Amino acid sequence: MKTVFITGASSGIGYACAEIFAKQKFNLLLASRRVDRLHDIATGLQTEHGVQIHTIGLDVRDKTLVQKAWDELPDMWKNIDVLINNAGLSQGLEPIQEGNTDDWDRMIDTNVKGLLYITRLVAPLMKQRKQGHIINIGSIAGKEVYPNGNVYCATKHAVDALTKAMRIDLLPYNIKVTSVDPGAVETEFSIVRFKGDSEKAKKVYEGFTPLTAEDVAEAIWFAASRPAHVNVNDLLLMPTAQA
Ligand code: NDP
Repeated sequence: MKTVFITGASSGIGYACAEIFAKQKFNLLLASRRVDRLHDIATGLQTEHGVQIHTIGLDVRDKTLVQKAWDELPDMWKNIDVLINNAGLSQGLEPIQEGNTDDWDRMIDTNVKGLLYITRLVAPLMKQRKQGHIINIGSIAGKEVYPNGNVYCATKHAVDALTKAMRIDLLPYNIKVTSVDPGAVETEFSIVRFKGDSEKAKKVYEGFTPLTAEDVAEAIWFAASRPAHVNVNDLLLMPTAQA
């Protein structure tokens, strides 16, 4: 059985990926900070699909904790076939001159450094096994810049650059690298962005039908399930009304 490692699996796109990969009989290694949620998800998916699931309570921003979690991980869970670097967030939507520097730190540390810390641990074993697939969740914000999106857009442009760089570094070892870049997806993302203000969050999706987390997970599964000779470099997935 193959293993998928999903960061940010406690909600939204990460959870939808856990569901789809469990359905496809992958064993699941799931990480996020809200470990209680991960336990509930694991119990549900284990019962429904009979796959093995290991959960890790992890803040991807904390380099020391990430290393410790990896060191403590049983060997069988380190043979990862697909890594989905999904943990991420946006916080604050202010012009640069009014931005909150703590929000900037949270976005840069999670979306860029967290992705790097996880990849740095997983990629060497993929290289040793001469197989693997890294799927980074970017965004339309990694292709374009929109008003007040400044730092979030910068982090997703960084993810775009890192995906391309990883491809150069890892393709010689038969490791595929893909970027999946959604437009607006209705998840807890907007609630996090507006720091719990669900009224403000709901307004984001007014007047059009956003993507669902399942729409994105299906695109991720498409990339992950191509034959060995096909690498999906980049998938830009937009709500029809947003394109
Ligand atoms: P959610 O808020 O629903 O999910 C985000 C996930 O990331 C949660 O499971 C959260 O878990 C986890 N996470 C956040 N910070 C950390 C951290 N420091 N350490 C570990 N896990 C963390 O949002 P989405 O599902 O929408 O977001 C998933 C990805 O998709 C993100 O990278 C986002 O940038 C990207 N994206 C989202 C879009 C959208 O419109 N929703 C559009 C384009 C891209 P926990 O809080 O338990 O740690």
